[in-house]
Amino acid sequence: MEYGNRQLLAKEGLQDLILAMQALEYMVIGPKIEQEAIVYEEINSLEDLPRGWTDLQTAGTYRIKRRDDDAYFGYVVGPRSLKHYLHPPRQLVATATRDGQRWEFESIENIEQKYAFLGVRACEIAAMRVQDRVFLQGDYVDPLYAKRRESALIVAVNCTMAAPTCFCTSMQTGPRCTDGYDLALTELAEAFVIEAGSDKGEKILRDLPCSPVTTADLEQARKLQQQAVEQISKTMNPVNLREDLLENLNHDRWEETARRCLSCANCTMVCPTCFCSTVEEVVDLSGDNIERRRTWDSCFDIDFSYQNGSIVRNDIRSRYRQWLTHKLATWHDQFDQSGCVGCGRCITWCPVGIDLTEEVAVIREKKCSE
Ligand code: SF4
Ligand code: SF4
Repeated sequence: MEYGNRQLLAKEGLQDLILAMQALEYMVIGPKIEQEAIVYEEINSLEDLPRGWTDLQTAGTYRIKRRDDDAYFGYVVGPRSLKHYLHPPRQLVATATRDGQRWEFESIENIEQKYAFLGVRACEIAAMRVQDRVFLQGDYVDPLYAKRRESALIVAVNCTMAAPTCFCTSMQTGPRCTDGYDLALTELAEAFVIEAGSDKGEKILRDLPCSPVTTADLEQARKLQQQAVEQISKTMNPVNLREDLLENLNHDRWEETARRCLSCANCTMVCPTCFCSTVEEVVDLSGDNIERRRTWDSCFDIDFSYQNGSIVRNDIRSRYRQWLTHKLATWHDQFDQSGCVGCGRCITWCPVGIDLTEEVAVIREKKCSE
């Protein structure tokens, strides 16, 4: 079915959208200020949104700041991405309970909670697709991810501004949302242009207090979207990137970057596509109840590559190289696509400001064989 019928929704109409999603029993997850950052959190009303706030991002820094208008979505992306909900940092996956002489085992495969995500950017939709490839389209399907993903409602927002850390245009993932959403908004000065991208979105849109969109509204939306494109200054050419990295595994740059890298794992935690996890089993004091818990892990953790009594990647050089070459090179071999969507989070949230686009540029500038 073709969608794309655009309408105009007044700013206060956003409250009707939130109520409509709640009436459909979605937990609405949208942007909210928490600990001086704009993050995805449960929101209950328009009042929760970061109206009139923006974010300032550069390599190693993030600040929020008042805007000189009342925009609801006048910021870029925060440290939390959709993976925080679809593939959460901590997840109970199974339990075992002693019943006399026998044990009862139960796998957690059912999730009742369904999420509606409000304010999702184009690069985040692309990142969700990368995680779909990992969790849904391989030999093993993750039932918990599948359940959450299948029931999720995506209300996208087209970016009208970009941070100096964004490079979605290089990775061809944004800044405009082209598909993968149920509803998409573009925030104008006085209203939103809204359009449906699915049957679910169409049904919600039908009951919202919309008015016809004018040519002037559409022109304003186009100009604002173009503004985001023009603000993107960072680039990383993906052509031959896999070869350029894999042919330079002994480049001096890996060692130089290792001297700056703290191996803190921030880049993997904030990355919307990183998916590694570990599993632990926790027994209570009675010894009768065991929980199997899955938590996010990182290739920067020292014991991540522990195998047969030793650690394979026992220095930061090899851990940083593993992360970057997996993300940008061997991800193609594993999943037929890049593991990077150009959101820039790993650049902003790296405490020492390591920027993967600069790393790639330096390696390309002076290849090992030259
Ligand atoms: S590697 Fe960095 S820029 Fe690329 S998707 Fe992950 S966090 Fe975003
Ligand atoms: S690259 Fe930056 S964020 Fe990633 S582990 Fe090193 S210091 Fe931490």
